Amino acid sequence: EVGSVQIQNVASVAGNLCNASPAADGVPALLVLDAEVELRSTKATRQLPLGEFILGNRSTALQPGEMVTAIRVPKRSAVGASAFVKLGARRYLVISI
Ligand SMILES: Cc1cc2nc3c(=O)[nH]c(=O)nc-3n(C[C@H](O)[C@H](O)[C@H](O)COP(=O)(O)OP(=O)(O)OC[C@H]3O[C@@H](n4cnc5c(N)ncnc54)[C@H](O)[C@@H]3O)c2cc1C
Repeated sequence: EVGSVQIQNVASVAGNLCNASPAADGVPALLVLDAEVELRSTKATRQLPLGEFILGNRSTALQPGEMVTAIRVPKRSAVGASAFVKLGARRYLVISI
């Protein structure tokens, strides 16, 4: 139910985070799991909690020359079960509310 067939098959979770859309389905799910992103450039590698990586609507802490090379979910967050329920005006190809 996320995106179109093309997005379901080709898009990456990193792209979904870097897009920083308020409707991004990957963001709330990874935020509640306390995920952090690894940002790498030719000069340095740094880690940021997802809540500090996404600065606002379409805005991230990505610096010129950096790319997201990993998304880490702490092991403690992988305990138990979780679910993501998408709220939208229709079932498919919908922007999340
Ligand atoms: C028809 C349609 C339906 C959609 N439906 C949904 C939906 O249901 N749910 C949802 O969450 N989103 C939806 N989207 C938007 C969605 O967020 C993006 O299309 C997709 O998730 C982004 O992933 P991507 O890998 O294609 O990124 P791209 O579109 O390739 O990249 C997005 C941005 O991030 C940058 N980027 C990508 N990867 C990296 C990286 N590793 N490091 C640094 N920068 C990077 C790119 O340069 C670009 O600026 C929809 C879009 C369309 C067109």
